[in-house]
Amino acid sequence: MTKDQKSRLKYYKTFSKEDQAEWICNDCGKNCFLDKNDYYMLHSPLFFRLNGSLKGMLCMDCVEKKLGRKLSADDIRICRLTIEEGRYTRNILLKYLSETFPTFTEEVILDILYQACEMKIDYVESLIEIVKWKTE
Ligand SMILES: [Zn+2]
Repeated sequence: MTKDQKSRLKYYKTFSKEDQAEWICNDCGKNCFLDKNDYYMLHSPLFFRLNGSLKGMLCMDCVEKKLGRKLSADDIRICRLTIEEGRYTRNILLKYLSETFPTFTEEVILDILYQACEMKIDYVESLIEIVKWKTE
């Protein structure tokens, strides 16, 4: 366990039993609070399809197992959690957008993602359309 995970576990133990239960993967029982790769938001219809409910959590391994493939940028709901906290989703979004806009720096792409959060543009394809429209 890393130092970060140890301090997260200490914090986790201060939660009520109900709050603790919310962080447990519905499929494999992993504690998702301890692993920032498990911090993510998917578009609700997709999460519902995978989880059978909008409640609770699935760890990223179980998400990809149920999907039958790796997560892609258009599965991810763009929001503060997916770009700030979720290491895995952040990297997918950054990679996808830098491939789409190869002349943009990572700093510019992050700025665009934060603007998308503020404007509540949560689909990456919608964001790309808007950026293309604004830059052409
Ligand atoms: Zn799991």
